[in-house]
Amino acid sequence: MSAAAPVPAPPPVDPVAAGEMAREAAAWCALHGLVVGDRADPRSATVPGVGLVHAPFSLLPAHLPESIWRQACELAPIFNELVDRVSLDGKFLQDSLSKTRQVDDFTCRLLEIHNKMMELNMEENIRLGLYRSDYMLDLETNSLLQIELNTISTSFPGLGSLVSDLHRTLINQYGHLLSLEPKRVPGNAASSKFAEALARAWAEFNVDRDGKKVAVVYYRAGYTPNDYPSETEWSARLLIEQSCAVKCPSISYHLVGTKKIQQELAKPGVLERFLENKEAIAKLRKCFAGLWSLDDEEIVKTAIEKPELFVLKPQREGGGNNIYGLDLRETLTRLQREEGDSLAAYILMQRIFPKASLAYLVRGGICHEGLVISELGIYGAYLRNKDKVLINEQSGYLMRTKVSSSDEGGVAAGFAVLDSLYLT
Ligand code: ADP
Ligand code: MG
Ligand code: MG
Repeated sequence: MSAAAPVPAPPPVDPVAAGEMAREAAAWCALHGLVVGDRADPRSATVPGVGLVHAPFSLLPAHLPESIWRQACELAPIFNELVDRVSLDGKFLQDSLSKTRQVDDFTCRLLEIHNKMMELNMEENIRLGLYRSDYMLDLETNSLLQIELNTISTSFPGLGSLVSDLHRTLINQYGHLLSLEPKRVPGNAASSKFAEALARAWAEFNVDRDGKKVAVVYYRAGYTPNDYPSETEWSARLLIEQSCAVKCPSISYHLVGTKKIQQELAKPGVLERFLENKEAIAKLRKCFAGLWSLDDEEIVKTAIEKPELFVLKPQREGGGNNIYGLDLRETLTRLQREEGDSLAAYILMQRIFPKASLAYLVRGGICHEGLVISELGIYGAYLRNKDKVLINEQSGYLMRTKVSSSDEGGVAAGFAVLDSLYLT
């Protein structure tokens, strides 16, 4: 159990001052590019520079004890290294996902590509990973628990960095109202750190500027079945995988980020297969929440009895896929009745309950006060060339805050707003 102090509630701001700050903040967003496409405008995303709106944001940064912040930062290089080690064990990935592949077509297609790569046995000397490990601070135990580790298309390093700047600016400007210190919002260089890692991978690849050879492939898509509407996209993925370009991520790095692998790594003794350092292993294990595969009949029974204590997760990314509460009970009961391995498409996770606090959220120019909870994301960058680890570091952060009654957390999916953090 962590010895960290409980999260103090942010100081109250009166609604009139909050409204004025929100207007100021929305203008800052427009000036500094803290904007997203506006779904209400049909020309958005078709005509450049048209149909933009400020990104949804929290008016003031979420409070976080400094000890928890340090703990989360320390975990980043350990997770980075872990992904690399696990990615080298192709058999572990195939075996762990073997039941999932029977019932989940998308995972099956990814595994087919992975299998082809194993047959080719092509050496990948330069390996680049850009990750975000997400956490919530569990109220009851006051411990930092990992939600998931994203290894593909990790979102918001750019906008996240800007939110930290926005909050520091507001604290400077409204210091007399807030009694907050701008220096307690940690610096957030996520976008430049990720850009540097990509550039460094390009440099390692060492191609001359003939303009014909592709050195680095970065996936900003490819993590959901919707990104592969036809066979063409799957052949492109395979073609890229078979090329000598640096893939961010490679198919192995991608698979290490699946929820099934997260659950397998949390089993007793599994981390020890990949890491030697006992202290590092203990640090990782401390942040693992309860994770179970559904061939554990006892836990399925408990989850049906007390669904409010669990989250049921399919092998999907991008938010909006998890199953909670009565739906969880119904789904488990139905899957249990079905023939075959349909339960294997999911994992069960302990539901984490962070402390809720009052905050102002700003969306579409309107400022609402609500009871909210936050999820801390820590970016990590990893680059190696053969035996040489060139980058292995914590690379900034992202706080996402949502009303506490919402189960899901995606910003793009409309559940959460962008936030930064204030160290206490
Ligand atoms: P995805 O890959 O779709 O983002 P996540 O595992 O991050 O999947 O789940 C989506 C959201 O659901 C998270 O951002 C978080 O808000 C919520 N969530 C996920 N797991 C838990 C959990 N164990 N306890 C509480 N909330 C959770
Ligand atoms: Mg994810
Ligand atoms: Mg997530």
